Amino acid sequence: MSEKKQFGFTTAILHNDRQKPIEHGSLHKPVHTSVAYGYTDARQLASVFQGKEPGFRYGRQGNPTVAALEDKLTRMEDGVSTLCFATGMGAIGAVFQGLLRAGDHVVSSAFLFGNTNSLWQTVGGQGVDVAFVDATDVANVAAALTPATRIVFVETIANPRTQVADLARIGQLCRERGILFVVDNTMTTPYLFRPKSVGAGLVVNALTKSIGGHGIALGGSLTDTGEYDWSNYPHIAANYKRNPPAQWGMAQLRAKGLRDFGASLGPEAAHHIAVGAETLALRMERSCANALALARMLEADPRVAAVHYPGLASHPQHALTNELFRAAGSLFSFELSDGIDCFDYLNRLQIGIPASNLGDTRTLVIPVAHTIFYEMGAERRASMGIAESLIRVSVGIEDTADLLADFQGALPSL
Ligand SMILES: *Cc1c(COP(=O)(O)O)cnc(C)c1O
Repeated sequence: MSEKKQFGFTTAILHNDRQKPIEHGSLHKPVHTSVAYGYTDARQLASVFQGKEPGFRYGRQGNPTVAALEDKLTRMEDGVSTLCFATGMGAIGAVFQGLLRAGDHVVSSAFLFGNTNSLWQTVGGQGVDVAFVDATDVANVAAALTPATRIVFVETIANPRTQVADLARIGQLCRERGILFVVDNTMTTPYLFRPKSVGAGLVVNALTKSIGGHGIALGGSLTDTGEYDWSNYPHIAANYKRNPPAQWGMAQLRAKGLRDFGASLGPEAAHHIAVGAETLALRMERSCANALALARMLEADPRVAAVHYPGLASHPQHALTNELFRAAGSLFSFELSDGIDCFDYLNRLQIGIPASNLGDTRTLVIPVAHTIFYEMGAERRASMGIAESLIRVSVGIEDTADLLADFQGALPSL
């Protein structure tokens, strides 16, 4: 490990596959499409099944191409191990399916990705009680804890209103109480922030977004940072306790979250994501710089009522952002002044594309209340601080001057 540590972020990703021999000197781990893995000694097959030696058995539980990506993600997050899933929601769903039972309690940030919010409503119907709190202040998290609280769940920078969770203090609280702290790092990516540094036990990444980065493959992951002591977790089944406690959580998540529910990442998608990850740092540098330039320009314009971006001095968690993250991210949202129709504005953009994704190389825009947050209704939107005219911008890597001209040119003259 010490020899690996000396590499920078991008060098480590580029050279990670070659830490293990690859067929024919190939520089990329090949796309292995085989579903089954044959053994010349049937005893060895049995021993792989019994977890006594490593090996692949059936594609739903693991695949060599996916495993190479998992290794890279572990490296990126400075973790212990990673499990990949077909989507980011597959990864978050696995936390519920693999670790929670009826009667358990979860404290979650109220400022959440829309589908995660929906998932927490679903688990409510299945006996897991979720308390939603304003996680920008650790006091709200502390007040919501009960003896049945198993997990505290937050996003680093919330999508779309960009609230920043009180990450270090929540991590400290969870450590004191022996509670598993799960951080969705999608908006920051391991390039801007490592949740391990604030004591997160599990890190979620929606690989679909900036890590894959080109909008051509869905994927998600859970990384065990090694920060949580699994011997404190009450629901680890005896089957998954055969190895040292450091491995218990992931053993149960692999079986109960991935194998039983089947949201497995395919090898082609894993390959696309692994290639995308090679340029994560370069793309984040450009898209974060573009986001800051756009947010500053719009904030200074009288035709814009509000801009929400943690890189702006006006943002409530601007100081915290500077302490925690390498940059303030590639996503911001804004509200046009009264009387300017957000649909007309979006239709005048020539570069920003109305589309529902983020972390793409291209700049994507979406009217939040009418699309991704439509289903939750006006009341919950208001409680999350989401104005009906809010526009979310996922900033791409286009030339800065072109983006500035596009977003300014689409504002109507007053
Ligand atoms: C997109 C997203 C997810 C879900 O990822 P999918 O791959 O779309 O399932 C989870 N969390 C955050 C913060 C996201 O932006």
